[in-house]
Amino acid sequence: MAEATGDIGLIGLAVMGQNLILNMDDHGYTVVAYNRTVSKVDDFLAQEAKGTKVQGAHSIEELCKKLKAPRKVMLLVKAGQAVDDFIEQLLPHLEKGDLIIDGGNSHYPDTNRRCKYLQDKGFLFVGTGVSGGEEGARYGPSLMPGGTPEAWPLIKDIFQAVAAKTEEGEPCCDWVGEGGSGHYVKMVHNGIEYGDMQILAEAYDIMKNLLKMSYDDMAATFTEWNKSELDSFLVEITALVLAFKDEDGSPLVEKIRDAAGQKGTGKWTAISALDLGIPVTLVSEAVFARCLSALKDERVAASKILRGPENVQFSGDKKAFLDDIKQAIYAAKIISYAQGFMELRAAGDESKWNLNFGGIALMWRGGCIIRSAFLRDINNAFKTKPDLKNLLLDPFFTKAIHRALPHYRRVASQAMLLGVPVPALTSALSFYDGYRSARVPANLLQAQRDFFGAHTYELEGKTGTWVHTNWTGRG
Ligand code: NAP
Repeated sequence: MAEATGDIGLIGLAVMGQNLILNMDDHGYTVVAYNRTVSKVDDFLAQEAKGTKVQGAHSIEELCKKLKAPRKVMLLVKAGQAVDDFIEQLLPHLEKGDLIIDGGNSHYPDTNRRCKYLQDKGFLFVGTGVSGGEEGARYGPSLMPGGTPEAWPLIKDIFQAVAAKTEEGEPCCDWVGEGGSGHYVKMVHNGIEYGDMQILAEAYDIMKNLLKMSYDDMAATFTEWNKSELDSFLVEITALVLAFKDEDGSPLVEKIRDAAGQKGTGKWTAISALDLGIPVTLVSEAVFARCLSALKDERVAASKILRGPENVQFSGDKKAFLDDIKQAIYAAKIISYAQGFMELRAAGDESKWNLNFGGIALMWRGGCIIRSAFLRDINNAFKTKPDLKNLLLDPFFTKAIHRALPHYRRVASQAMLLGVPVPALTSALSFYDGYRSARVPANLLQAQRDFFGAHTYELEGKTGTWVHTNWTGRG
């Protein structure tokens, strides 16, 4: 057997795996490629990887034999059973101290379990978030690795080399923390992505149905906004989508069925928020908005029966209102990210992950779907104050939200008055008003709970002393 020269093995030759291999090859690493359907290895070597240093393997045994020790094997396969199956197939061919990396969209409890399972056997395990799709994998993804801490020095150079870079040249990849923390951070990233997309969809709905703007005007507006504090990948592609014409010259997006799909990561973010007791309202509403959109037949039937405001017509200054919408998007985003980081903080505390929030903002600054100029400001906020309790309390963001609020309230109230559904925009604003309130009406809830269930309540100024009242006076 020839000397092992492979720096890293990669299993899974679908779009992500192939592109990440070529990216690693560009950076001088020798990658050994393997795939369940082995014929794809030869196809890849003969086509996409032709002329590169990439080596192929036709069995797991061959793959492991071609890797330098300590061996590093990355899986980019369908999340779920396939990952467990490959781990079991790899183990007989690995030695203690070798590393398995799962780069798929695994659910973090699975990563927690796999990490413990492999660590108990003396192996290292990393679950890494990979964002940026095919293009990101090829030219620079955002990478969010977490797992066995001893694994980080083994992969730091290669991960940071292939990752996206900020304008200042910093890699959008750092160590996240232990266990499933990398996949947890990726999950929250995806949840925030759902939120950002929903905010933009609601803005589009208002522009189209209240302001009666043409597709070209909407596209031009998003293009203009992309030069402002809203500068982001999602605003950029929204402009391109709105401008895109079908063969008959009409906007293609208008012909697309209004029923959104989802793969589950937004839902997981909302479920985890509920489990942790953290009000991640915007992302949760974005998930529900997709659920509502999917009830297409029911909505069509209801639209023939249920009425909203008649003759919806916006009567104010359209140019000024367009600026209001821009500010509303910005403010809602600030609140959504504040909620996302609240969730990360709570999850980190519960799992003792010791998360680096500034590092997370940096990982999201480039390469991924939520990349934006805005994340630079979030990175700065956590750099200045690593233990910042809430993004809204950072002076830059406090000032920004105060400035945007009057605009935001105008948009939310106009949309509600005129019957345009804006669940993400309005729920985030309500969260803000609740979060800034020293007193919320939960005193009444406590009284009601005590009334019907004798759940007891605390009096103001007497925390820790629980009392019950006989509210009816009956014995
Ligand atoms: P994918 O379509 O999710 O998965 C295809 C790969 O998984 C193929 O190599 C396939 O092998 C293998 N596979 C599927 N079921 C298997 C099983 N039961 N046992 C063994 N192997 C199995 O590929 P992808 O889109 O490149 O994504 C790879 C991973 O990255 C996924 O977890 C995905 O969620 C995640 N991800 C994807 C994106 C994206 O934009 N696509 C972005 C970030 C993360 P065969 O060729 O033999 O079928």
